[in-house]
Amino acid sequence: MTTTLTPPSQSPASPTIDTAVESADAAQRADSGAVILDEQAKREVRRAMLAGVAVPGYQVPFGSREMPVARGWGSGGLQATLSLGGSEDTVKVIDQGDEEGVNAVNLRRLIQGSLDCATSADTRESTIIQSRHRIPEDRLDAHQIVVLQVPVSEPLRGVEKSVRECDRMHAEADYSRMWVSIYEDLVTSGVVNKSAGYPVMVNHRYLMAPSPIPRWDIPRLGDAENLTVLSHGRDKKIYCVPPHTHVEPVTFDDVPYEVEYTAGAACGLCGSTDTFMVQSADGRFLCSDVEWCARVRADDVDPDEHRRIAPLDLLPDPAARVGAFDESFLTDPSVLRASQRRAVAEVTPVTAPGEDWSLQVTGLGKVYPARRGSSAVVAAQDVSFDVAPGEALGVIGESGSGKSTVMKCLIGDEFGATGDVRLAAFDEARTNILTLDPNARRQLRVSTLSVVYQDPAAGLDLHISAGGNIADRLTAAGERSYRAIRRRAAELLDRVEVPLDRIDDVVGQFSGGMRQRVQIAKALATDPDVLLLDEPTTGLDASVAAGVLDLLRELIAERNVAVVVVSHDFSVIDALTDRAVVMHRGRIIETGLTDQLFADPHEAYTQRLVAAARR
Ligand code: ADP
Ligand code: MG
Repeated sequence: MTTTLTPPSQSPASPTIDTAVESADAAQRADSGAVILDEQAKREVRRAMLAGVAVPGYQVPFGSREMPVARGWGSGGLQATLSLGGSEDTVKVIDQGDEEGVNAVNLRRLIQGSLDCATSADTRESTIIQSRHRIPEDRLDAHQIVVLQVPVSEPLRGVEKSVRECDRMHAEADYSRMWVSIYEDLVTSGVVNKSAGYPVMVNHRYLMAPSPIPRWDIPRLGDAENLTVLSHGRDKKIYCVPPHTHVEPVTFDDVPYEVEYTAGAACGLCGSTDTFMVQSADGRFLCSDVEWCARVRADDVDPDEHRRIAPLDLLPDPAARVGAFDESFLTDPSVLRASQRRAVAEVTPVTAPGEDWSLQVTGLGKVYPARRGSSAVVAAQDVSFDVAPGEALGVIGESGSGKSTVMKCLIGDEFGATGDVRLAAFDEARTNILTLDPNARRQLRVSTLSVVYQDPAAGLDLHISAGGNIADRLTAAGERSYRAIRRRAAELLDRVEVPLDRIDDVVGQFSGGMRQRVQIAKALATDPDVLLLDEPTTGLDASVAAGVLDLLRELIAERNVAVVVVSHDFSVIDALTDRAVVMHRGRIIETGLTDQLFADPHEAYTQRLVAAARR
């Protein structure tokens, strides 16, 4: 067997020549008729594929087998092809765009030896096309299946390391992290940097990693006649794009999706200008689909038909890029201030039917169970209060009195609370939100019930920009316009007095006070009905804290939001709130107007808190 050993250039984990030789050996073994996937295993893979067809884009786990090729050489694709195929099939194997690369040749020999099928270089007569990197240039039909060898199955891997968290995001269709990553790309380089394997939404539901196919091929993944099966051996995941399924590259509504294209490029061999091209060592552009290129030269293609399916409407257009957007508001915030005032006036307060509250807490209790070495802690017991729109309620108590516990139970950071919590803005206060599942609780936090933590790192991602942190909240709420996000982020940052020339700076570089301001901006981004502030100034230096307190006081006064402020510091409660409850050992021991509590505290415990604030 004579083959040139040139590892494919675009492989993310480029296999070594040794593994190629191993594959070649295995291919020779397969030539002798070795069965490398038993019937039981094939049935299992087919079952996974059926599930994948039933739920397009969903990553179906399957019992992946050891294959006589190195992982990364297409073991996932191989298992899919061997499970799908039979002796009546004609199989084409391409690596990049070429069926004569060493990897393609070896896989083809393995498949042929195992299935006893025909093989062909001609896309048109192939029933199964196993590929890495490319979908053939031909229009495929309903009798053909494309099997894509997938190097990275998890589209969220770049933004989230935890597999469990990725699973949760898929389950809840919670893809704001991906949107933020696209936003950050646009902010830093003006274009979306994701190239091969550009993330797509399948059937409006699942985010999918479409193998390493170039952006050029993405438009043809969707609404195709053929079935596409994507398979990853090491991750043991199969997912499918059934015929006529909507596949949409992830991009903002006002930022066009672009394919790769070099202006004026024409294939140096066939002259095509409407194919995906690669640059050869001598600098010439050549069709990546070698077979297609040969057929163009032999006059064996329909050029008009091909032009119709080529994504020429998606070529890069500098005039439509974000760099061409008018962002003069970043240097002239007066424009923003006018619209900001208007927007705030438009927000109508939400109260419960027949009542005046936005948030009502009745008999809230929380027990932290006993652990080894410590007994159970009753952190909150029979806590009740309500808050009206435009009102700020204080919760004051010394450290350990249960303030944060109440806050966490309200926001859904802590589960297992007893009692009854209602939001006027959720289901017209008919549902006790403590009975909702974690997913529903998380959704409430997007636009109804917002929190500002003592530690900005708890409410922000310090690795992304100030604007990106606000984009996180806005995209979670469904905002899909880059321009609208930029403008809203600028409005909010301007309002919290973060200089607008820092909108694209990573929050980790900000001072503590500035971080807290960004966290406040993020919490207000979707105009929540209820805002919870847990020790919002406790971590800050006194002078910085005073500035943030002033800001919070103004924000509370100008918005119709219902606010709960938690603090151990009576001066904070005094500065921000109208009414307050005093917590001691998990219980409310005194309530009243903040002024009165401050001027004339009844309980000795409250007197101590007041005395501490007066010092
Ligand atoms: P505060 O915010 O008023 O300082 P916390 O709500 O944090 O008070 O704590 C109230 C009580 O609950 C304290 O006794 C604390 O030790 C206990 N507690 C808080 N969180 C936990 C937890 N995760 N597990 C066990 N006990 C906890
Ligand atoms: Mg606390």
